Amino acid sequence: INYDKKPCYDILFTASFEDLPEELLKLDSKDRKVCIITDSHVESLYGTELLDRITPFCLKAVMYAFPAGEENKTLDTVRDIYRFLIEEKFNRKDLLIALGGGVTGDITGYAAATYLRGVDFIQIPTTLLAQCDSSIGGKTGVDFEGYKNMVGAFYMPKLVYMNVSVLGTLDDRQFYGGFAEVMKHGLIKDSNFYEWLLDKMYEIHERNPETMLEMVQKSCLIKKLVVEKDPTEKGDRALLNFGHTIGHAIEKAKNFNMTHGECVALGCVAAAYISWKHEWLSMEEYYEIRDMFVPFNLPITIEDIDPAEILTLTKSDKKAENGSIKFVLLKKVGKAVIDRNVTDDDILNAVKEILYVE
Ligand code: NAD
Ligand code: ZN
Repeated sequence: INYDKKPCYDILFTASFEDLPEELLKLDSKDRKVCIITDSHVESLYGTELLDRITPFCLKAVMYAFPAGEENKTLDTVRDIYRFLIEEKFNRKDLLIALGGGVTGDITGYAAATYLRGVDFIQIPTTLLAQCDSSIGGKTGVDFEGYKNMVGAFYMPKLVYMNVSVLGTLDDRQFYGGFAEVMKHGLIKDSNFYEWLLDKMYEIHERNPETMLEMVQKSCLIKKLVVEKDPTEKGDRALLNFGHTIGHAIEKAKNFNMTHGECVALGCVAAAYISWKHEWLSMEEYYEIRDMFVPFNLPITIEDIDPAEILTLTKSDKKAENGSIKFVLLKKVGKAVIDRNVTDDDILNAVKEILYVE
């Protein structure tokens, strides 16, 4: 991976909100109404501060907060946002800002894609998951009748503004959950980055701002390189699903009581196990990958799951086409491939491998 390539103009990495007014002015904010969309939790942490900060630089600035939580990533919330925007007389040239985690980014992006057939929006991601993963790549959407991300659109923001200092207020589960995606990026594309994460373990636990900046930046660039080549997921973008096939099944089986990242960590272990069984990874490599999640407070085993149920859920995932699952495996650390020859037995054995037995 060539990191010398300058980050694309629309992704800014920093440790404060100081540069935001200048960035807004570049987007002609003086002539536009701006609506910050956030969740109830982030509103109290950063919303009011941000609203005060940007108000002098916009034609008018308002804020809309929906109740925090994945269960509100729905069309109902989008409808409430449309209503608010109509009441506030937002028109085609006005601007939305998504301030929050992946839920806020996905909802706001979808509202922006569809309100008046599309208005500009900015992402200000505030969770590690949102900074390292969900704010990049233009996927927006909501869950629908129990199906995750069932309704949505590909829609690019005008700017992604990363302020890593906000990561300090994340609770540990959220932080390490996001870290699972960072690990995933190293595993699928960049063994040097993976090694670097191991080296920086202490600084990562401390959430050292310089380390956070470097980590978020590298992680985003990996995602950006993958999605730029394949924006609408016809090919290589699917590599980002490493750990997600079985991971999503566990997420559903556990009724979303575990964080997405915890399920992804388990899914990565299962996929690495299958990669070993397909004789791509050595046994040592498999165990190294598996054990790497432990110091980052991520699970590598799980209790109370039924392998047969996980298999069924895995096959019902929307990524399964014509019965054959596009499984992402590792050829080695830093090189993922798509494989269509993963059998039901492979999946059952991998789930048994991560099943906790006393
Ligand atoms: P989230 O947005 O619900 O945030 C998690 C919790 O952290 C919320 O309670 C939120 O209020 C709180 N929070 C946010 N920022 C905080 C901060 N700085 N300090 C303290 N608390 C803070 O969830 P998430 O984990 O960020 O995102 C998960 C969502 O992202 C899922 O819906 C998933 O489908 C989506 N996602 C989208 C993509 C994509 O490409 N669009 C990729 C991966 C995941
Ligand atoms: Zn994910």
